[in-house]
Amino acid sequence: MTLLLATPGAAEPWLKILRAEAPDRAVHLWGQTDAQTLATIPYALVWKPPADLFAPLTGLKAIFNLGAGVDALLAHPGLPKHVPLVRIVDGGMAAQMAEYALYGVLHVHRRFDLLAQQQAASVWNDPGICDPAETRVGILGLGALAQGVIEKLQPFGFPLSGWSRSPRSVPGVTTYAGLDSLPAFLAGCDVLIVLLPLTAETEGLLSDARLAHLPPGASVINLARGALIDEAALLARLDSGAIRFALLDVFRQEPLPTDHPFWRHPRVKVTPHTSAATLPREAIQQILGNIAAFERGAPMQGVIDPTRGY
Ligand code: NDP
Repeated sequence: MTLLLATPGAAEPWLKILRAEAPDRAVHLWGQTDAQTLATIPYALVWKPPADLFAPLTGLKAIFNLGAGVDALLAHPGLPKHVPLVRIVDGGMAAQMAEYALYGVLHVHRRFDLLAQQQAASVWNDPGICDPAETRVGILGLGALAQGVIEKLQPFGFPLSGWSRSPRSVPGVTTYAGLDSLPAFLAGCDVLIVLLPLTAETEGLLSDARLAHLPPGASVINLARGALIDEAALLARLDSGAIRFALLDVFRQEPLPTDHPFWRHPRVKVTPHTSAATLPREAIQQILGNIAAFERGAPMQGVIDPTRGY
């Protein structure tokens, strides 16, 4: 059984691992494979595939996305609807997300924003004790990556809450489910961490009206997708101080335009979509495990439900 690898970046790191982990499988590269061969390939491993990728793959049985988010892939005009689309579940990203989120939470909890202002003005002033019980952290999304964030935050003693589509039970976390519960969830978030997939239901979810449910002086950490938040509304609330701090890794337009106010806003830290990346070895092992399951008729991990969009 053969595989097709289609990534915009260097293929060599992926090929090296594929050769080591699956020496019996032939691996073809997009752009270096003739049409006759492409028509026989059952499995495609893709990241940001070009527009003409899927048409020649007439023998395709499954598509494996080399990342967790599939919003861009589901919008691909050539995506075949008759084969399963499978994403990476965690793939080393949960631990990276957890580090990033912890940095953001500690930034506000230990008042490094205020301390930076004081340092700039040579002010020696102790801002007082930081009680973890007073920094309530809420996570939008309770999936694979949120789980890693929860595990990392738990030992610090912050009250944790989480919001998902279907009811979830997570030890030590107050959980909410569904849109009706969103205002109550948001009202209890001193720090809001966004880890939702971008779908028809979640696009623009954090509108100005919803951001208004956050307590005064709340902070926002967006690790998921820029289009989940009304960025103009977020900016206005940062300007007024209603939102104290935003740590933003993702934006509606990426790269973030050089003249965007987020770049220079005193209450914003911008990172260029670098909070977490798929680790090739973990991803390849997961994909090969899924192919083995598929070939023996067992369920695969991370199959996308196109009607839900994640
Ligand atoms: P999962 O699919 O494992 O979890 C998604 C969570 O969101 C689930 O808890 C799900 O609810 C919840 N959810 C989905 N739709 C809704 C809705 N309409 N209302 C309420 N809750 C909803 O995803 P991951 O944790 O693996 O990844 C999350 C996202 O992170 C990815 O989709 C991707 O966009 C982003 N990401 C960003 C990266 C970066 O570098 N910045 C890197 C990797 C991923 P339920 O539990 O009920 O299904």
